[in-house]
Amino acid sequence: MNAVAPAITGFDAKALRGDFPALQQEVNGQPLIYLDNAATTQKPQAVIDALVNYYARDNSNVHRGAHALSDRATVAFENARNKVVQFINAGSSKEVLWTRGTTESINLVASSYARSVLKTGDRILVSAMEHHSNIVPWQLVAEACGAEVVPIPVSDAGELDIEAYKSLLDERVKLVAVGHVSNALGTVNPIKLIIDLAHSAGAKVLIDGAQGVPHFDVDVQALDCDFYAFSGHKMYGPTGTGVLYGKEALLEQMPPYHGGGEMIKTVSFEGTTFNDLPFKFEAGTPNIGGAVGLAAAVDYLQGLDRAALAAHERALMQYAHDKAAAFEGLKRIGCAKTIAGAFSFLLEGVHPADVGMLLDQQGIAVRTGDHCAQPIMKQFGIPGTVRASFALYNTFEDVDALFAGLEKAKTFLL
Ligand code: PLP
Repeated sequence: MNAVAPAITGFDAKALRGDFPALQQEVNGQPLIYLDNAATTQKPQAVIDALVNYYARDNSNVHRGAHALSDRATVAFENARNKVVQFINAGSSKEVLWTRGTTESINLVASSYARSVLKTGDRILVSAMEHHSNIVPWQLVAEACGAEVVPIPVSDAGELDIEAYKSLLDERVKLVAVGHVSNALGTVNPIKLIIDLAHSAGAKVLIDGAQGVPHFDVDVQALDCDFYAFSGHKMYGPTGTGVLYGKEALLEQMPPYHGGGEMIKTVSFEGTTFNDLPFKFEAGTPNIGGAVGLAAAVDYLQGLDRAALAAHERALMQYAHDKAAAFEGLKRIGCAKTIAGAFSFLLEGVHPADVGMLLDQQGIAVRTGDHCAQPIMKQFGIPGTVRASFALYNTFEDVDALFAGLEKAKTFLL
């Protein structure tokens, strides 16, 4: 049976493509089909304009100037923070820290929070499907503190084993670090359940939201997570921007992460006092233009019908799933009941890198490899996958083009 593209009302991905200049190009003589959104999304003109306007008009340093441009830059920078506060429903601007991305956000929590609380014999639980960014920082701090990083098992379908998780939750566990959505498999984890179970065992929780925020409305207060980390560039904002949400009481108790300007109140050789939140964790000149660009990305997303957007992305995923089921020789990697964003697969007998190269020749951009998730690839006994990942501007025609491209690739490779 042929897969039929459903009609989604209230969301016009084709029209929105026009907002993204990078999509209006040909690659290798073919119109670009961009399916590498889990790596980074393209940027709407509104984000590009916000960056250009900031650098063309307001560029200055923040929080310390005695002149108009510095005032303007400071207002734009702090307004951007407030926009993120509202976007994720944080309690206040004290709970939203600017970072370079998810990786730095997680390293901040590992170096500051975990390093200050972990003792010999303590445990950090991470799921076996995590991105390296949500494994290695914990390994570094565990080694320094005599603690242990323990993986939460994942089933062959790519779902977190909740019963195994429950049985791992004992008094040794001080922290649980789990991805909202797996970048390698697309699995959407039941994070509210994970958070509640961790809390009832006395552990704190960090959610790696790199692949969550681009696809879902996130309410950090409703989730009750202790930390939530995400990257601007995966949600239509600039590279080098990211956010760490942390509960105020925890951030207050945590020692500074980096030392330098901005994060201090007074400095003397007798002793230094630290700035209030959020500045205590923002040493040095921040990425001001990037924050302004990220705020423009939030505005862009909030200008859309988010429920219709989510329905569109779900329909794209279902359509790809149906096409994959009818495609001979294609094996899905990760078949969780709920998946979002990433669609991972292999063509039987073909190395994923070869598939990626042949798709690229047809103007189709996908990602191949281990997706910075080597432990889960090892569990599945594979070197990597081909990953198509969707964003708001992808259409059913893009999915058709992907499968037509795969048919063509097959004729070359098999
Ligand atoms: N976590 C997940 C789930 C990711 O997909 C990524 C990037 O692909 C990261 C963390 C790291 O994000 P960044 O490189 O923006 O810091």
